[in-house]
Amino acid sequence: MSKRAIITGVSGQDGSYLAELLLDRGYEVVGVVRRLSAPNHWRIEHLLDRIDLRPGDLLDQLSLIRLVDEVRPHEIYNLAAMSFVPASWDQPMLTGEYNAQGVTRLLEALRQVDTSIRYYQASSSEMFGKVRETPQNERTPFYPRSPYGAAKAFAHHITVNYRESYDLFAVSGILFNHESPRRGLEFVTRKVSDGVARIKLGRARTLVLGNLDARRDWGFAGDYVRAMWSMLQQDAPSDYVVATGVSHSVRDLVETAFSHVGLDWRDHVRTDARFLRPADIEHLVGDASKARGVLGWQPTVDFRTLVRTMVDADLQRLAGAGEPAPAAAAGR
Ligand code: GDP
Repeated sequence: MSKRAIITGVSGQDGSYLAELLLDRGYEVVGVVRRLSAPNHWRIEHLLDRIDLRPGDLLDQLSLIRLVDEVRPHEIYNLAAMSFVPASWDQPMLTGEYNAQGVTRLLEALRQVDTSIRYYQASSSEMFGKVRETPQNERTPFYPRSPYGAAKAFAHHITVNYRESYDLFAVSGILFNHESPRRGLEFVTRKVSDGVARIKLGRARTLVLGNLDARRDWGFAGDYVRAMWSMLQQDAPSDYVVATGVSHSVRDLVETAFSHVGLDWRDHVRTDARFLRPADIEHLVGDASKARGVLGWQPTVDFRTLVRTMVDADLQRLAGAGEPAPAAAAGR
């Protein structure tokens, strides 16, 4: 009998890669989507005849109970969230509703319907914020620097709390930044790959960014969803950091992306204070020893390959081929 999995946030970057992975492994995949007047399904267009899309919303407790009861999944992957850090300063309450209390609602639905369902919580390196040690591992204290990070820290703790209180198989994957050609255009990697492609094709002359000194540990999203799945296949639930262990600055990112197409970034990149954050995180780099040791996980795509792949995909897309994508970058 095949396993059934629910993925919330299935239309996002990670949801689309995880749906592919689970389908490949013979799962029945139920994807949860919020009702929108203009559905945003470009990342899962190629999967729509193979996944069962159901309405649900992390703000609506009853929709979650009904969903879990009707589907009776073996596994739930909670990838739904308000995912863009700057937006969390504009809508801190809504960020808390989705990223913090939404997790409690989903855990509560699972607890009421069937406590044998395994649960994955998408936690984030943003919880480390103003870092207490470098590199960060599962025991590093949290010091979030945004409403996004604060809400994710709550979600992490409530997941651990439900595991310990109700004996659930609930795990928290602390994933460092992970990117791909399916990343939203507002995130810095994709903003850069899209900007470089536009400049190379003569459709733009400059790319305006914020903090070039920030350093992140950037990996490939396709690698990271393997770690999510693997966490739910273990004998015992536990939390894991997932990261490459290598960090680069935003300046390294633009240098790598522009030089890939034979351009000098200094001729095209400008900075503007409107892309700075009220509080930024200067340096994140993860220690994924536990995931490597216990899950046998390791990344297959290094930073340079990732950036080049993203630039090539945007060149192809803008030249009229390749994956579809939304027309314009949203906001910051
Ligand atoms: P985050 O780590 O989840 O916030 O991922 P982002 O891709 O949004 O940002 C990564 C880092 O890039 C942050 O430290 C930002 O301050 C920095 N950054 C510099 N310029 C930009 C920009 O124009 N847009 C975004 N999104 N980030 C930028």
